[in-house]
Amino acid sequence: MSIASNLAAVRERIAAAESKAGRPAGTVRLLAVSKTFPAEDVRAAFEAGQTMFGENRVQELTAKVPVLPPEIEWHLIGQLQSNKVAKAIEFADWIHSVDSERLIRRIASVAADSRRAPCILLEVNSGEDAKSGFRDMDELKRSLEFALGESSLQIRGLMTMAAFGAPEVELRRTFAHLRDLRDSLQKEFGVAMPELSMGMSADFESAILEGSTIVRIGTAIFGGR
Ligand SMILES: *Cc1c(COP(=O)(O)O)cnc(C)c1O
Repeated sequence: MSIASNLAAVRERIAAAESKAGRPAGTVRLLAVSKTFPAEDVRAAFEAGQTMFGENRVQELTAKVPVLPPEIEWHLIGQLQSNKVAKAIEFADWIHSVDSERLIRRIASVAADSRRAPCILLEVNSGEDAKSGFRDMDELKRSLEFALGESSLQIRGLMTMAAFGAPEVELRRTFAHLRDLRDSLQKEFGVAMPELSMGMSADFESAILEGSTIVRIGTAIFGGR
């Protein structure tokens, strides 16, 4: 199967899930996760109409961005270390994986210095086996409150990763929980957080049924890693 036909099949599945969820067509955006795949594969997907791409490592991001079309919108989706924040902000338009107060303070200060204003998603930990994401809701709220006062940050919503291979009911519960958390934060802080980044190759249809607005899909487009 080619990347173009895989992409077409994924887009059809997204449209079917939107329709099943009773959501308007086009409310879910596809982030193509190109980690470990070469720049040629990103280009093939771009030529098939895909414009949003995600990488999980800063080093791989900085290698790909300069050799690919400038129209691409890049998203960093993997854990970010303090010493890589400057590169992350230089090369990515979005950061999905902000998971501590320390990290958001660092991103705000580096972004202000470099006159950038990255779109930010706060990552929420969804289970014991997951390594990343906020676990402490007080820290998440302090981080959000801080971020809302920083003009160098554009808070757009929340992100999570569901437990791999979990049964459907558990997946739905995880995704519904992220949506409910977003709804309650919007109310408490009086701020719009429109984006829910949730759903991967194995579970994106469940995520769309629970309100996902960005699905992060690698394997179903580019093949196994
Ligand atoms: C790799 C990765 C994905 C994509 O996973 P697939 O199962 O290949 O679709 C999504 N989100 C994050 C954070 C990832 O690291």
